[in-house]
Amino acid sequence: MVWPWTQKKPELSVAPEQKSAQIDFVDHLVAALPDPILILDSNGIVIKANANAEEMLEMAPVGMHLSQTIRAPAVLEAVTRAMSQGESLNVDYEMRGPLARHFEVYVSPIASAQVESPAVLLVLKDLTREQQIERMRSDFVANASHELRTPLASLSGFIETLQGAARSDETAREKFLILMRTQAERMRRLIDDLLSLSRIEMNVHLRPSAKVDLAQVARHVCDLLSSMAQEEKVELQINLNSPLEVAGEWDELVQVVLNLIENAIKYSGPGKIVKIEGGTETGFVTLSVIDQGRGIAEEHIPRLTERFYRISVQESRSRGGTGLGLAIVKHILNRHRGRLLVTSKLGHGSRFTIRLPSL
Ligand code: ADP
Repeated sequence: MVWPWTQKKPELSVAPEQKSAQIDFVDHLVAALPDPILILDSNGIVIKANANAEEMLEMAPVGMHLSQTIRAPAVLEAVTRAMSQGESLNVDYEMRGPLARHFEVYVSPIASAQVESPAVLLVLKDLTREQQIERMRSDFVANASHELRTPLASLSGFIETLQGAARSDETAREKFLILMRTQAERMRRLIDDLLSLSRIEMNVHLRPSAKVDLAQVARHVCDLLSSMAQEEKVELQINLNSPLEVAGEWDELVQVVLNLIENAIKYSGPGKIVKIEGGTETGFVTLSVIDQGRGIAEEHIPRLTERFYRISVQESRSRGGTGLGLAIVKHILNRHRGRLLVTSKLGHGSRFTIRLPSL
């Protein structure tokens, strides 16, 4: 192997005791770095690896040739270039497998006092999470645009009909105006929910501090929803004896409880009862909304709080849903350091419990 660049940077000669102190220091430095680190000798053999690298590669790579641990031609080529031309460079590395991970690998030659011949440093920066977030963001924009476009297309259709075929048909006009109002309402709800989500996300790191009684929130929400419950022929039963005090923001907690009780009414059906129960666990208070609706199959439960996730898009739309209600619930609870717990049995109903640190 030719090392033209080493001639430009001769190594400092050091006393043996100094050399061993340096080795110790380098070992500690490599171990302390947050990214996976590999150091290769001039033959491409791994001579140092920190715990992060071992975890990422799922093996102890020291003593192995790099090609046995990272089978990526681009990375191997970068190492060869670093060795032969003394060049530092960044390359992409995709780790395949059931849980694919994406890394940016920084490859750089190092002139080391402790290694007999100059070596190569590899720093692997895990970009998987950033890429996932980026993908979620663009999916979200695509979904939101699609959701807004649907009612907009209906509105345009109705306007065209009113300007054309139904121009002088009084009865048709009335009918179309009612339909147009429904579509406009749907757009308004969607925009309101999108704005709520972005407002909550902006404040996610600011923990609310006002004293709020969840029992009072639940009673207030039941009042707000009493006419909806009557129309749907659903009975609301509140079982809240003692106060459930938390540090929170009243309006946001109202929104959480409103979304849960509204869903319980919507997805129950006539003749059913929706119960609201409070409880305490060490250090926490809980509020549960229990319905006797159709229940939710197990595979859907972990995904319910994803934006726009609906078990039946058609049904959610026909009930005026946006698919954002539970995403809003989750974000508000995150801000309050709380959690949403969902249990359900198909054909028997569901229980949505919010758990918040007690005051
Ligand atoms: P939506 O606006 O569609 O109601 P949500 O985010 O509030 O959106 O809820 C997401 C989905 O979860 C709903 O579309 C529905 O399929 C399901 N869901 C929520 N609450 C219940 C419930 N109490 N019973 C059955 N399904 C529910």
